[in-house]
Amino acid sequence: MKSPSSSALVSRFSALVGPGHALVEAADTARYLVEWRDLFRGETPLVLRPADTSEVAAILRLAHETKTAIIPQGGNTGLVGGQIPVPGRQEIVVSLERLDKVRSVDPLGNSIVVEAGMPLAAVHAAAAEAGRFFPLTLASLGSCQIGGNVATNAGGTAVLAYGNARNLVLGLEVVLADGRVWNGLRRLGKDNAGYDLKQLFIGSEGTLGVITAVALKLHHRPRGRAVAFASVASPKAALGLFCRAQRSAGFGLTGFELMSGLAMDFALRHLPGARLPTTAAPWYVLIEVSSSLSDGEADAVALDVLAGATAAGEAIEAAVAQSLSQAEDFWRLRHGMSEVQKYEGGSIKHDVSVPIGDLPAFLDEAMAAVEGAFPGCRPVPFGHMGDGNIHFNVSQPEGGDRQAFLSRWNEMNAVVHGVVRKYDGSVAAEHGIGRLKVDLLAEVKPPLDLEMMARLKDALDPLGILNPGRVIRRP
Ligand SMILES: Cc1cc2nc3c(=O)[nH]c(=O)nc-3n(C[C@H](O)[C@H](O)[C@H](O)COP(=O)(O)OP(=O)(O)OC[C@H]3O[C@@H](n4cnc5c(N)ncnc54)[C@H](O)[C@@H]3O)c2cc1C
Repeated sequence: MKSPSSSALVSRFSALVGPGHALVEAADTARYLVEWRDLFRGETPLVLRPADTSEVAAILRLAHETKTAIIPQGGNTGLVGGQIPVPGRQEIVVSLERLDKVRSVDPLGNSIVVEAGMPLAAVHAAAAEAGRFFPLTLASLGSCQIGGNVATNAGGTAVLAYGNARNLVLGLEVVLADGRVWNGLRRLGKDNAGYDLKQLFIGSEGTLGVITAVALKLHHRPRGRAVAFASVASPKAALGLFCRAQRSAGFGLTGFELMSGLAMDFALRHLPGARLPTTAAPWYVLIEVSSSLSDGEADAVALDVLAGATAAGEAIEAAVAQSLSQAEDFWRLRHGMSEVQKYEGGSIKHDVSVPIGDLPAFLDEAMAAVEGAFPGCRPVPFGHMGDGNIHFNVSQPEGGDRQAFLSRWNEMNAVVHGVVRKYDGSVAAEHGIGRLKVDLLAEVKPPLDLEMMARLKDALDPLGILNPGRVIRRP
């Protein structure tokens, strides 16, 4: 790989974007080089902020010609370090933030075409303006970009009803590693004419192409919504409640989140104004029910579920939000859960999934395993129970040494992932592989999977210039 540190090469790249959009000064590049959890700190000779697809294509053409490594960056909220340039490697960051426009909206066809750098919250607003609803929802929605969401196949809190980002994409525009632009921006509900090429780029974390625009599926916003909160004794009780909610609400069950008691304690301690809606308990669930008819119908279903669950001993106490602001307060407790862990010292993360029926046994075993191996550590699991996806995060012992705890990251991972593997689960349920889990992927994937992935990488990026060393390591 060529080093762009030579001023001639930096000048050639800089000339491809408008004045003020090639950043080299440390003060200007700093915000592109630190990720949200401060686990990765990057270095780069240059951050480029192209204005449109043709500028991205020009950058990739030059990168291909000069064998220069390119790191596409969206909202920089990724949690596995893929978007951060590796120190000493002279990787150029290409920020998509200026590609932030709506290209077209088709309310009748329930679709919208937006540029990749549009923040997810802005996509929500554009859909609402057209009288439609875009359901993908993550706590990072104010900062993450739709291109980043597609590149990571983001999940979030609405997967139960609407699927991952993949299920919401109709088409893509992608700049390939050699600078050619692939126009796959179709808006068809059905298209079996050959391989579905867009699927290759969804979830590829910037290793196969740079996404510049996305055609998205829109929905009608459900007319009614009820948000409920329940305290429960155990994940097993929560699973009973989940089955009951599915039975009663069917496709109207649009959220089912599980939170451990300690994760909730952290939220109550650190989120300003946070209040527990029910009695204190070892675990909590947040349930969202939607209705195509009215709030009244959604409330009735939620109340029926909760009454049945309380009578059956699945819920200790439950409450249905009485207003929009109370519903937001319930969700705020859940959405604040990643952030509040920062205030409790070092935290070792695991983004795992297991078949949902195995979740209670997994949680019991994983908690016992980490508490046994790391005395004093504080497991704070929470997450998208309806998808079998738990963020099995472990906070350092109270008053302990942050660095000493974090230095045992791999040991802790081995303990938790050992239990995940026992249940045939995934060690990267929704955040992806990035740089953080490259070695882990090589350990857990069968050789044939790795071989097929390597062949795809070699076919689409033969020089290895796109996000090198992320997801899959090539020689
Ligand atoms: C508080 C918080 C909560 C979160 N909750 C969730 C959650 O519930 N579910 C979930 O799935 N994730 C969650 N995340 C992780 C993160 O928000 C998602 O992975 C998100 O999709 C990343 O989008 P981004 O625009 O920030 O991408 P970035 O962080 O900038 O990049 C992520 C990866 O995608 C690549 N990339 C970015 N844009 C492009 C592009 N246009 N073309 C090609 N490659 C690109 C980058 O190179 C990198 O490898 C959370 C993060 C935070 C901080």
